[in-house]
Amino acid sequence: MNEKIKVGIIGVGHLGQHHVKHFSRLTGVQLAGIFDTDQGRAQKIAQQYPTKAFSSLDELLESVDAVAVVTPTQTHATVAGKCLEAGKHVFIEKPITKTVAEADRLIALSGKQGVLLQIGHIERLNPALLPLKDFDLQPKFIEVQRLAPYTVRGTDVPVVLDLMIHDIDIILSLVDSPVKNIRASGVSIMTKSVDIANARIRFHNGTVANITASRIAKDQVRKIKIFQQDLYVTIDLSLGLTEVYRILDTQRKDPHAIFTAPLDQDGYQRQIVYEKPAIKKSDALQMELSNFIAAIQGQEKPIVDGAAGREALAVATKIQQMIIDDLL
Ligand code: NAD
Repeated sequence: MNEKIKVGIIGVGHLGQHHVKHFSRLTGVQLAGIFDTDQGRAQKIAQQYPTKAFSSLDELLESVDAVAVVTPTQTHATVAGKCLEAGKHVFIEKPITKTVAEADRLIALSGKQGVLLQIGHIERLNPALLPLKDFDLQPKFIEVQRLAPYTVRGTDVPVVLDLMIHDIDIILSLVDSPVKNIRASGVSIMTKSVDIANARIRFHNGTVANITASRIAKDQVRKIKIFQQDLYVTIDLSLGLTEVYRILDTQRKDPHAIFTAPLDQDGYQRQIVYEKPAIKKSDALQMELSNFIAAIQGQEKPIVDGAAGREALAVATKIQQMIIDDLL
């Protein structure tokens, strides 16, 4: 009996071609085929792997158990909705949809059909973020910068939905408290929509996150700084570098101390200890898609489910609306 999960990929453009590559290699998966409204593109990718290029979405849906939706964001609600209605497990590239109402409809549909809805917030699996699980993180202040040189790709949506949403999702996964309030501002430089944005999110537990995103930068920058009681972490998502500074009060000098205060009257000395956790090289997309398959098989929880994708979108759309209101 063939127990492999039959997967189809919808949209095989810049990112979708990588989905095809990974699904063609994943164990437990049978790459059933692809569909793209650009038939020429679909034929080219189908020959490369090789797989079947279906001539319609309906035809693909007859041959699969699960799909990856890698089409432009404004099509996610319609395309993924059709797949969920057909009872297929759905992985959607981020952002989940363009509007929160669309996301709510998809979440309700996946619940009704009893199928998985997973969202491709790939930065959660950035190798530089993975060592954070070894630390007791209770951030008080988070500072994030995500700057990228201008490219046409992604400019169909504002920078908040294209780039900042990665960091919103990361921050929501790090802070265990609801959002209390948001301040935001931004500007349009190259496109008719917002190209540079800054947001300050305050959570009910007092944590504050300050995020800047720009798609008009000279160089790519993706940095996160986390400040909390006795701990400071700096993460470079582009370089794959994580550095941790901890404040310890001990009687013996730590070999990794980069600063040691004089002994106090109880014989303790305050030290700043520096650590650079080893970063394991890994392919985030491969890990994310294999998690999708394991989640369908009931072996793992989805890293980012529909609800988490919806929360990131809800905060992003609030930020975007504030920027628009501020510009008027
Ligand atoms: P792209 O324009 O390169 O590719 C999109 C493809 O979808 C094209 O080949 C197009 O012909 C096809 N298409 C359009 N409408 C379709 C439809 N209704 N049915 C089937 N095919 C259709 O775009 P891209 O850069 O690959 O981005 C695709 C999605 O992936 C977007 O939602 C984007 O936000 C997301 N994305 C995520 C990341 C990430 O870091 N997770 C990075 C890049 C893009």
